[in-house]
Amino acid sequence: MSAAASALSGAADRARILAKAALFAPPTARLADGRLDLAGLARAELAFELASLGEAAFRARQLWHWIYHQGVTDFGRMSTLSRPLQRRLASHCAIGRPEIANLDESRDGTHKFLFRLRDGEKVETVYIPDLEEERGAVCLSTQVGCTLSCRFCHTGTQRLRRNLSAAEIIGQFMAVRDAYGEWPSPNGGARLLSNIVLMGMGEPLYNYEAVAAAMRIAMDGEGIALSRRRITLSTSGVVPMMDRCGAELGVNLAVSLHAVTDALRDELVPLNRKYPIAELIAACRRYPGASNARRITFQYVMLAGVNDADTEARELVRLIRGIPAKVNLIPFNPWPGSRFAPSSPGRLARFAAIVREAGFAAPVRTPRGRDILAACGQLRTEAAGARQALR
Ligand code: SAH
Ligand code: SF4
Repeated sequence: MSAAASALSGAADRARILAKAALFAPPTARLADGRLDLAGLARAELAFELASLGEAAFRARQLWHWIYHQGVTDFGRMSTLSRPLQRRLASHCAIGRPEIANLDESRDGTHKFLFRLRDGEKVETVYIPDLEEERGAVCLSTQVGCTLSCRFCHTGTQRLRRNLSAAEIIGQFMAVRDAYGEWPSPNGGARLLSNIVLMGMGEPLYNYEAVAAAMRIAMDGEGIALSRRRITLSTSGVVPMMDRCGAELGVNLAVSLHAVTDALRDELVPLNRKYPIAELIAACRRYPGASNARRITFQYVMLAGVNDADTEARELVRLIRGIPAKVNLIPFNPWPGSRFAPSSPGRLARFAAIVREAGFAAPVRTPRGRDILAACGQLRTEAAGARQALR
């Protein structure tokens, strides 16, 4: 295909992906009582809402500070706003949070939050503390369920119910901050919730607009103020959206590769039939901002006897040669009804050694939160009795 033809088909694909996302739109930001939920609005949208209440633009900045720096949800506590404005805001607006329906704690300190959303849908969010340092990652969901049915993933067995809104995506992070008492936003100092990984339920690049809006809020310097270096978006390979993600958000990219031939990847990650390995790798090569300091992460779930042979490790390094990259080797996390087994420690070590000899970092990820079904690929919000089955 010529460059012009491929640019055109990329644009058509992007339009299709965005149109499909709209079909699974979340409920509007209006509450049942008519109030507007301000959470998740961009700065300009917040200014617009305040202007429609007859307020000056600088009020939007104050309100932003209260919502995203102080984490305050009660207008009555926003002491830089006049009493009459506090009252008017309270009668027209709200600042919503997803409601914690359940909280599980793993033996290793990982916490899994089950959030109930306003329409009753549920998603899971996982906090994974670093075991050595005072920091940790919050793993956010972007969809309720997933349209892609990667064979090894529990979420993939739950059909897509709908996309999450920007408010629901950033709301998961804010609710976890509430739980850890990490407001106001620590300026530069140590924080437990130091990173965001978009690796929970769903495919973030199939809900790009909402994910982008939520991440812009997370990165805003006058609010939550997380650097883009502390945010990682994981994709199963939605090639047409990867360029946009890199150019507009510049967050770290993780790519769920898992196989090195199209024949096997077609089976494990069915999206490969649309965007095969060569196209995926080409998109990684041109991902903006990738450098040795900001490497692309290739995720590779190690499935015993399926994708873990020496020849596959060699082919992996051949494919990614020249890309500033590291390879995360993830031992398969089982879930009730899954048909795979994790590779043995010896196999993992051998595979890792081949990747390392080629000059790539290849950490073997210790599974976190497996006992509460909180590890990679174990999230699902329809599974009755799943936890019992694993114990
Ligand atoms: N949809 C995105 C992000 C969510 S999945 C994606 O696929 O990248 C997050 C990561 O968990 C992906 O790398 C995914 O391939 C991996 N994963 C899924 N199921 C898994 C399992 N059972 N064991 C280990 N990793 C798994
Ligand atoms: Fe969806 Fe990612 Fe699971 Fe695949 S691995 S089914 S893309 S959540």
